[in-house]
Amino acid sequence: MDVGDVVVVGGGQAGFQVCVSLRDNGFTGKLTLVCGERVPPYQRPPLSKSFLYGDADLPFRPDDFYPQHRIDVVERSATGIDRIEHKVHLDDGRQLPYHRLVLATGAYPRLLNLPGSRLRGVTALRTLADAEILKGQLETSRRLVVIGGGFIGLEVAAAARKLDVPVTVIESLSRTMARAVSIQMSTHLTQEHGRQGTTVLVGRSVTAFDGDASGRVTKVVLDDGSRLEADLVVVGVGVAPDTELAAGAGLKVDNGVVVDEYLRTEDETIYAIGDCASYPSAHSGGQRVRLESVQNAVDHAHCAAANICGKPTRYTAVPWFWSDQYGIKLQIAGISTGCDQTVVAGDPEAGKFSVFCFRQGKLIAVESANKPADHVLARRLLAGDPDLTPQEVATPGFDLKARPKPPVG
Ligand code: NAP
Repeated sequence: MDVGDVVVVGGGQAGFQVCVSLRDNGFTGKLTLVCGERVPPYQRPPLSKSFLYGDADLPFRPDDFYPQHRIDVVERSATGIDRIEHKVHLDDGRQLPYHRLVLATGAYPRLLNLPGSRLRGVTALRTLADAEILKGQLETSRRLVVIGGGFIGLEVAAAARKLDVPVTVIESLSRTMARAVSIQMSTHLTQEHGRQGTTVLVGRSVTAFDGDASGRVTKVVLDDGSRLEADLVVVGVGVAPDTELAAGAGLKVDNGVVVDEYLRTEDETIYAIGDCASYPSAHSGGQRVRLESVQNAVDHAHCAAANICGKPTRYTAVPWFWSDQYGIKLQIAGISTGCDQTVVAGDPEAGKFSVFCFRQGKLIAVESANKPADHVLARRLLAGDPDLTPQEVATPGFDLKARPKPPVG
């Protein structure tokens, strides 16, 4: 099938996957992937985990995959979109004509604009280049301070402990991963970090960094005036969607590039997918959401590719997330925003349990620690109209596996 030229901007998980899915859907036209990082597309999840203490196989595909599938990978940055002429401008002056354009520009780390933020040894983590630098520094670090007790912060802390580096995590909210998981799961994670030798300080923020004469960080200054020794600081305080190209082209932006349920912007020739896209979610009562996850990137890509290939498809996938910290495999199905009741099932003492999250009696999310079967079944339940009640989960001996299997979504 040929709808003309397709240009994809952004070589992360979403941009890579939409190229693959376009070919899988029979798209035969010219396909260009603009990839600002100057390396072929690679996986990011290992960068805050196994890559830091060992080896990880990062490229999505070997280099010859791209010519074999006639995907032209252009290792340049896009600087603008001409929506009248239907062209993407590159930083080397080239212009790429398109019939359909996919924005998969992702997100960039929020930075702390504090005295000393630019000292050597104060670093964020998003790209392979960032991870390579961090990995090298972890080898010699004697005191790591991690700012932000979210996904990046806790995963980096766990990786550093594997290397025996002393770690302190500073989280400004009253608990870790406060926006992502329930109090019960947050407590479980924080306790495990403590058992593994990580100090977790919550409700604390950073006001400055001290450095030595060579310009390297030596201390982190907290809001109560106390100072923590540090020769390495990782800042993991969240990300912001990269919407510059879209905004520059006059497309609507509101915490992400605004798209409809088909992942189309208001310009029907332009789609936005992955971390940069704000879309109406059936799993959030139709509210707009912007999700930062591999699942969202991959499923958005499948959906946009189908739409570009003339197979109208609404985006309805159940969101899910995962994290590995020490021996805890955390898996989250659904979106827990607005949760007003949680029920724990399983064996928290043994570290194998799930937290069922309800809003007005309706199941909206399930967080599982080392309970992969619960996670799989929860995804299937949440794909339909879940009939599970808090009372049923609270029944002694409750086991999701013992219920009639929900249909595969
Ligand atoms: P995150 O998960 O949003 O966590 C950032 C945490 O830092 C939040 O709890 C935030 O609190 C806190 N924080 C913000 N400002 C702070 C400050 N000044 N001092 C101390 N704490 C502060 O973001 P992230 O960990 O930076 O991760 C970045 C991106 O990578 C996200 O897209 C994430 O989803 C992705 N990622 C995902 C995974 C995974 O899925 N396993 C793993 C790694 C990274 P507030 O909520 O108050 O801002």
